[in-house]
Amino acid sequence: MGDRAVVLLSGGLDSATALAVARAEGYDCSTLSFDYGQRHARELESARRVAAAVGATEHLVLRLDLRAIGGSALTADIPVPKGRSEAAIASGIPITYVPARNTIFLAHALAWAEVLGAQDIFIGVNVLDSSGYPDCRPEYIDAFERLANLATRAGVEGTSRFKIHTPLIRLTKAGIIRRGHDLGLDFSLTWSCYEPEPDGRACGLCDSCLLRKKGFAEAGLEDPVATAH
Ligand SMILES: [Zn+2]
Repeated sequence: MGDRAVVLLSGGLDSATALAVARAEGYDCSTLSFDYGQRHARELESARRVAAAVGATEHLVLRLDLRAIGGSALTADIPVPKGRSEAAIASGIPITYVPARNTIFLAHALAWAEVLGAQDIFIGVNVLDSSGYPDCRPEYIDAFERLANLATRAGVEGTSRFKIHTPLIRLTKAGIIRRGHDLGLDFSLTWSCYEPEPDGRACGLCDSCLLRKKGFAEAGLEDPVATAH
């Protein structure tokens, strides 16, 4: 068995690819998902399936009611933007930004890693094709890694040197899809849509669906997940 790692797994194709990378690097992976009141709770089923398919050792789902805080189209009664242009998606921080989400998620991953004796945490963030979320940037990840080593008993006593791995950070969506494809990832298990149709299909129009479509098109691959539009 390899070194133990905690992998944040949303059920989307980025985190699924990050998990496939961690497994390919020989890590024994404990995957962590959050039932945070997101509109697209469908992704939790995908996370469970991806964890099983890619060979996670254990899969933990934590419940956190971020709807009680709100402030995002994903956690409050705010419409999810649909049909935006590539330029619009690429500019500014959209309303689907969930306040401090990656800090909340990484804090829980860090706590679990400390308990498991794992020094390595994987997160599938990327700066390109990522909707401009501030907590997906390398300077944010570097700052969190410093915090991790200051904030924990394992860090202070020197029993662990925490590292936040971001294997996708400089890849385009197409690059991520190619990497996942090369690692044998089954994308039919992943879920990206922020607001599924009443019949359960992906909408094909939200920013996340549009970035996914563009990624598959640029990678020259067919997305096994059908969309309504
Ligand atoms: Zn969608």
